Amino acid sequence: MIPATTFNGKKVALFGLGGSGLATAHALVAGGAQVLAWDDNPDSVAKAKADGIATGDLRDADWSTVGTLLLSPGVPLTHPRPHWSAQLARAAGAEIIGDVELFVRERRAHAPRAPFVAITGTNGKSTTTALIAHVLAAAGRDTQMGGNIGRAVMTLDPPSPDRHYVVECSSYQIDLAPSLDPSAGVLLNLTPDHLDRHGTMENYAAIKERLVAGSETAIIGVDDDHCRAIADRLERAGRKVERISVTGRLEQGFFAEGAQLMRAERGRAEPLLSLEGIGSLRGRHNAQNALAAAAACLACGLSQAEIQAGFASFPGLAHRMEQVGRRGRVLFVNDSKATNADAAAPALSSFPRIYWIAGGLPKAGGIESLKPFFPRIAKAYLVGEAAPVFAATIGEATAYEISGTIAAAVEHAARDAADDPAGEVVVLLSPACASFDQFRNFEVRGEAFREAVRALPGIERIGETRG
Ligand code: ADP
Repeated sequence: MIPATTFNGKKVALFGLGGSGLATAHALVAGGAQVLAWDDNPDSVAKAKADGIATGDLRDADWSTVGTLLLSPGVPLTHPRPHWSAQLARAAGAEIIGDVELFVRERRAHAPRAPFVAITGTNGKSTTTALIAHVLAAAGRDTQMGGNIGRAVMTLDPPSPDRHYVVECSSYQIDLAPSLDPSAGVLLNLTPDHLDRHGTMENYAAIKERLVAGSETAIIGVDDDHCRAIADRLERAGRKVERISVTGRLEQGFFAEGAQLMRAERGRAEPLLSLEGIGSLRGRHNAQNALAAAAACLACGLSQAEIQAGFASFPGLAHRMEQVGRRGRVLFVNDSKATNADAAAPALSSFPRIYWIAGGLPKAGGIESLKPFFPRIAKAYLVGEAAPVFAATIGEATAYEISGTIAAAVEHAARDAADDPAGEVVVLLSPACASFDQFRNFEVRGEAFREAVRALPGIERIGETRG
């Protein structure tokens, strides 16, 4: 745990006692702060109380002595309307911050040169964060990973000069971290998302921009207009910017040509790293993640060889194009995290011939946007409530059957794929649907797929992943 020593002797109100909230309360108490914590959920309050945290309704608190409100990232700061605790803090002139802000203050106070990579973007955050942490650890660096992935940031080990921090930041966490100052900041991409919580795309982009604006080295994917404008703006302001692209060559920066990652300096490009044969980093979206990870690891002082070795041993994250098994020329891939059509597109674009398991609880728009991928689909196996709608969209475009359940779909797809005359083929679960009609969440759905695959006769398991 990281004791929040910069709050020693200070009075702090804390709202939101979910997993990270409770950890933050403990970090504040350990640092010597006087904490009063609350949550709208009485069970969370009771749990905090049982844990020895002082609790009380913040509506009744004496705000004249409270300097800080520590807010959970799940609680609305601005949209659709500020939470009542944020309104009380504002009225009292108290600052409103989150756990990532506590972390950056601790790092500045105790180990300001400790390498600190912060990662954000609309898509690919977790993969990129896990990849950077994996490469650093594989190269023998003392590495701590957390934030929006895995462990809450204040539960990591305390800052020391050689300790590397790799922290995934959601837009909510950035919004609550006004002095965020990573040594390397990664902004992967920006597309409309979470606008219910951020109001407009401009506001959402402005929040994400703050992570790279505060970075010593700003690593920015420049394949969308919002990110390109941010890179231009930072460069004009004299900041160090490393550009990333997977859609074209760059004069300066990091770009991908297929599986080959290149680095360009003043118009001269040279091969940097290769993703050839690395199953966990397949596809153009992963090339973007890998380029950003390479730039971040170079900024931390790693050599090309160390990064290449780390890439090669990256196990990937569970449920995101996770390779779970192989039988002869048939690969089985679990992409259960793809809960809508947009999220399924990267997986469908990554394999040339696919036995596709799709369906679940359908989302607006269905799979209309995936039509361009239908020629790659040898056959579709439809499950859950979406099956009839998806069948109607597929129509005559490719073969399909209504399998009903994941277990039946795996069995049928495995049987058909084994007889495919083409070379390498994949049985891919990339459902383009929520899971709630048949499963508690996408993780449980992915596990059902994994188990069904591993129960097939003659299957060869592929590496255990984490996530
Ligand atoms: P996040 O943490 O931002 O939600 P993940 O790394 O968990 O992202 O990846 C979730 C899904 O998003 C993946 O299964 C893949 O479909 C897609 N994805 C991953 N990286 C990218 C990227 N760089 N660009 C677009 N989509 C991506």
